[in-house]
Amino acid sequence: MKIGFIGLGNMGRPMALNLARAGHSLVVFDMASASVDALVQAGATAAKSAREVAATAGLEMLVTMLPAAAHVRSVYFGEQGVLAAVAPGVLLVDSSTIDPMTAREVATAAAAQGNPMLDAPVSGGTGGAEAGTLTFMVGGADGDFATAQPVLAQMGKNIVHCGGAGNGQVAKVANNMLLGISMIGAAEAMALGVALGMDADVLAGVINTSSGRCWSTDTYNPYPGVLPNAPASRGYSGGFGSDLMLKDLGLATEAARAVKLPVAMGALAQQLYQGFSRQGHGGLDFSAIILSIEGEKSA
Ligand code: NAD
Repeated sequence: MKIGFIGLGNMGRPMALNLARAGHSLVVFDMASASVDALVQAGATAAKSAREVAATAGLEMLVTMLPAAAHVRSVYFGEQGVLAAVAPGVLLVDSSTIDPMTAREVATAAAAQGNPMLDAPVSGGTGGAEAGTLTFMVGGADGDFATAQPVLAQMGKNIVHCGGAGNGQVAKVANNMLLGISMIGAAEAMALGVALGMDADVLAGVINTSSGRCWSTDTYNPYPGVLPNAPASRGYSGGFGSDLMLKDLGLATEAARAVKLPVAMGALAQQLYQGFSRQGHGGLDFSAIILSIEGEKSA
């Protein structure tokens, strides 16, 4: 298949490399040329703009993987953007994590000029992108999902159709809001138990066989040493950055505002990560939020 790929950062680069390895003919663009070089070495053709990618003769699908909604707007709506040049019928797939309202707005504009569009945000991090084991949460029409599914399956393991346009983003923000809340809960429970004199391993063992168990306690425990492979056991490096969690909690609270739904816990989690980021810790893995809890104790 002839596929365009725009946005070759930490996630997009390994995703596009997996498509190149699967034998697709790729046309790529990123503002950062270093990222483009890796794809060119893998056989991809470099374009000079998003518009040039979109205008490629014979293009069948175009994937974008950009930081946030503002970048998605500029790449799709800009003068040098996708919608200015793409031929009708080319399937557009945006895998960036953005708010569901923007995803629906871009999909509506694409449909108006004859381009089907899917929102397909991912979870699984850079490790999942490299290994081709991402989960894709996909919003859009049944037929378009069926067309994209085999291609997405070359970058991911679980490809889930979540409903109409924007619903992939809905699934992503709902899941990540719960993840942020549960990580803060896990951090408070672990810090409390240790402060009251318990051994962290024993406490984690009790929680993980009791009703408090969740992914944040049994797979990604925030207390150092409990899980040797978790970011907590390597100084909170790598993993999923606190600033990315802050971004996703902001998306969740904004989306909730649009439907006037109270998400008190999500909003509190967003504020706690905002404070953590302001203290200069936005680059640490999001489980490092436990440091702000333990720090308050010793202050
Ligand atoms: P990144 O910042 O590493 O990469 C984004 C890329 O987009 C950069 O290479 C940048 O140069 C490029 N870009 C920005 N504006 C552009 C434009 N106008 N035209 C062309 N290229 C442009 O970000 P990332 O970590 O790859 O994340 C991408 C998306 O995936 C984000 O929405 C993020 O929330 C989401 N996500 C990230 C992770 C993760 O662990 N990193 C996990 C799941 C989802």
